[in-house]
Amino acid sequence: MPTGRYAPSPTGSLHLGNLRTAVAAWLFARVDGSPFRLRWDDLDETADPRHETEQLADFAALGIDFDGEPLRQSTRLDEYRDIISTLVEAGHTYRCWCSRRDIREAAAAPHGVPGAYPGTCRTLTAVEIAEREASGKRPAIRLRTNGEVVTVVDSLHGRHRRPMDDIVLQRGDGIPAYNLVVVIDDDAQGVREVVRGADLLDSTPRHAYLQRVLGIVEPRWTHVPLVVDGGGDRLAKRDGSAGLAAWIAAGGTTHGLIAAIGRSLGVPVGSRASLPELLAEFDPRAVPMAPTVFRPEGPELSLGR
Ligand code: GLU
Repeated sequence: MPTGRYAPSPTGSLHLGNLRTAVAAWLFARVDGSPFRLRWDDLDETADPRHETEQLADFAALGIDFDGEPLRQSTRLDEYRDIISTLVEAGHTYRCWCSRRDIREAAAAPHGVPGAYPGTCRTLTAVEIAEREASGKRPAIRLRTNGEVVTVVDSLHGRHRRPMDDIVLQRGDGIPAYNLVVVIDDDAQGVREVVRGADLLDSTPRHAYLQRVLGIVEPRWTHVPLVVDGGGDRLAKRDGSAGLAAWIAAGGTTHGLIAAIGRSLGVPVGSRASLPELLAEFDPRAVPMAPTVFRPEGPELSLGR
């Protein structure tokens, strides 16, 4: 019974893509009779308890239930810092004073790799370190890696590989970074099956790498395709027009939305369904790979393919 989870950031309203991922994660857990946990990824400065209240109301309306108390990242800074200290002491890290601009400029150089950290601070001399320390600027802490290729196996996408990069573990402002805390928290919550949006698939080898370094069991991975708008762009949280409230305001019902989400996940249901009805028909192997298109069509919105 691999424990599942949903880990929303309370930084805005959940759009239909978020709700669909939450339903998918719930179905993947409950179809095995597994526990399902909630975590608030609330380290972002735009996190706001009002969004938590609104998101909980959405989960309740759809029938998504959770086991145990939610884990709240903002209460766990000491745990994260202990683990970062362990990594620092074991020589797995280095300090990095680069600004985003430094990184952008280095990446734009003739042999730079867009998006990858160019390694400027990885091999600083003692004199260069002393200069940076004297600047008073607080360094980020990066993981020291050798660019080894890491492969993960996703239950929908199959094998996915990427070279490991020197990711930030702790930002210059002292806040631990997502790529580290997601690994620590999934372990703390006993999560053995991570179901989340396909936008995170490319970061997953980083998480698997950290799990190996920290001696954490790698969970099963499932990255569900995203919901995109008619133009092929993925829905964004700021796009409040695409949430449950907008669905209802346009004449839709929660049972209509559950059915639309179900069909988009390959469940053969009619135009209305409850979550238990979806669960009874859900087959993890029938989840399609193509992104789902969100079409606001008249009073009834539809999630089509
Ligand atoms: N909090 C992240 C989000 O809302 C999800 C992180 C995860 O599922 O690992 O996008």
